[in-house]
Amino acid sequence: MKDFLNSDYGWRFALFNKMHRGRFILFFLLMMFSLLRAQVVTHVNTEKKVIALTFDGCENKHASYLDCNIVDFLTANKIPATFFLTGKFAYRNREDLKKIKNYSFFEFENHSLNHIQHMEKLPAGKFYKEVDKNQKMIKWITGKTPKYFRFPAGNYDERSLKTVEEMGLQVVHWTYASGDPDKNISCNMLENEIDSATRPGDILIFHANGRGVHTAEALPKFIKDLRAQGYTFVTLDQLMKLNISKPVALKQ
Ligand SMILES: [Zn+2]
Repeated sequence: MKDFLNSDYGWRFALFNKMHRGRFILFFLLMMFSLLRAQVVTHVNTEKKVIALTFDGCENKHASYLDCNIVDFLTANKIPATFFLTGKFAYRNREDLKKIKNYSFFEFENHSLNHIQHMEKLPAGKFYKEVDKNQKMIKWITGKTPKYFRFPAGNYDERSLKTVEEMGLQVVHWTYASGDPDKNISCNMLENEIDSATRPGDILIFHANGRGVHTAEALPKFIKDLRAQGYTFVTLDQLMKLNISKPVALKQ
């Protein structure tokens, strides 16, 4: 009897299998990669008592201005902070942003061009422009290209998330909402909430566009409180680098 694998048919069969196995492995790796990448970061897994303060600079219908009380305090005390800016806001506040752009403890990231509430519902071309044009705007004003993206109002779907990642940006939202645009939240309430809710690796969100009602007032207070709890502040990019993928070993 003729050996099957040595026959012409057997050889073709083996080659066919080899090709398909290769394609399958490639497909599997791509799937794994997209599953690993497709994520919205809301917290960083770290053992260190560090947190990142982020401030949104966005505007919708009305002109909005950079909250100089917040910026002056952060600058005077060299407190690391990450600003998520929309293109419209960045352009309007470009002169103020240029004054702070060179501080190494500040970062400027992408929060879309026009802050469209449901950006994920835009047609592909318009969606792309919302991200891409703001990348260019922030680069033009600050000299730095953003690495992170935050969806307006935090609204996204799987397709929009994937598109932003394919454009080379990582999506970062927040651990818990401080609620600083809420007029019913007093300075004391804001301070107490932050003091009790903050955990290592948290990403805190505030507004530096005039919508943070008591943010500037509460900022020195909760910074002092968190420092007393042993926390230090880092920029978002520094926090992302502290991410530990391995689970912490349990003590015996
Ligand atoms: Zn916003």
